[in-house]
Amino acid sequence: MKHASRFTLHASRPWILLNPGPVNTSSKVKEALLRGDLCHRESEFSELLLKIRKNLLKAFGIEKDYTAIFLTGSGTAALEAALVSTLDSRKKVLVLSNGVYGERMEKILSLHRLRKVIFRVPIGEPLPLERMDAILKSDPQIETVAMVHHETSTGMLNPVKEITDLKGMAGRRLILDSISALGGETLPLAQGKIQVCVGTANKCLQGLPGVSFVLIAKKELERIQDIPGRSLYFDLKTHWEEQEKGGVPFTPSVPIFDALDAALEELLKEGLERRMERYRQYAKRFRQGFKKLKLEYLIDPRYHSNTLTALKLPRGLSYEFLHDRLKERGFVIYAGQGPLAGKIFRVANMGALRIRDIERFLRCLKEILASYDR
Ligand SMILES: *Cc1c(COP(=O)(O)O)cnc(C)c1O
Repeated sequence: MKHASRFTLHASRPWILLNPGPVNTSSKVKEALLRGDLCHRESEFSELLLKIRKNLLKAFGIEKDYTAIFLTGSGTAALEAALVSTLDSRKKVLVLSNGVYGERMEKILSLHRLRKVIFRVPIGEPLPLERMDAILKSDPQIETVAMVHHETSTGMLNPVKEITDLKGMAGRRLILDSISALGGETLPLAQGKIQVCVGTANKCLQGLPGVSFVLIAKKELERIQDIPGRSLYFDLKTHWEEQEKGGVPFTPSVPIFDALDAALEELLKEGLERRMERYRQYAKRFRQGFKKLKLEYLIDPRYHSNTLTALKLPRGLSYEFLHDRLKERGFVIYAGQGPLAGKIFRVANMGALRIRDIERFLRCLKEILASYDR
């Protein structure tokens, strides 16, 4: 299979990153960091921001109904901004939670003392549609549902489309953490049922870490005008108003915007469908290899995302040992989080990878599994 864009590994950091972001980036994305110093109050930055906003919407085919608001900060920055800027404190938000990132949403809402109903199932379990529908129908105070698209802690893809189609969702809004899915997974954005969708530059968009964004339905922008400000830095209204004028309220990470510009050009060139297909093929190749090595999945593979596989650590093999032996061979894997620490390892397939890297990884993994002390 043809690789999407050329990339070279640097001699001092020669790693293939199989962690779920930051990912390996193309040479063009890295070169964009050297465009030169720029003041964010100059017209060149306004043009850059305008272009990035336009290209992001274009890549997802949602120019008509959505706008994009950018923040300097990792994915959690945009997630916190989305939650604190869009919720009416007189109403409730229902949080669907089946992993570490669902819990992160709960935590943000608790810190800001926003009214919430938590629907939590054990980590790695699928969200039961009928029970959620019943909760929605029984509580008219629930105005919004907040959920994670791809629960990166387990590699589980949650059923966004099925949830938006629930009878109980009629008249309600959806806030989606699609940080590890946008660009890698199909998303029914164009159907107008997702009002707020959060993403980041350094996962499936293949940019660098430090810039995140909220895609917000234009209709929703009127509604948030009435939400009282709850944060100075994380107020979407403030960022949106400035960005509409071509500016930003605070100093942005200019070079990371440059890198995102290059990454979005590459996404447009590759096309969203082909990007997703490339990730599907990567995941398929990894999983064929895992199967041959008789490794056990953490979750039911019917719920696997396109971009990450969580595997149980074989008995007697510590995460640290596996991580270190793989790193010596040029690969960075990812540990389990929260209750899964020490029990699993994760292999993501986001970013500028090559099939031959995946094949070499599988050979190395085989060698390490054959050699460790059982
Ligand atoms: C990566 C990720 C985040 C954000 O993490 P940051 O470290 O703040 O970028 C949030 N939600 C999900 C599902 C993620 O995968």
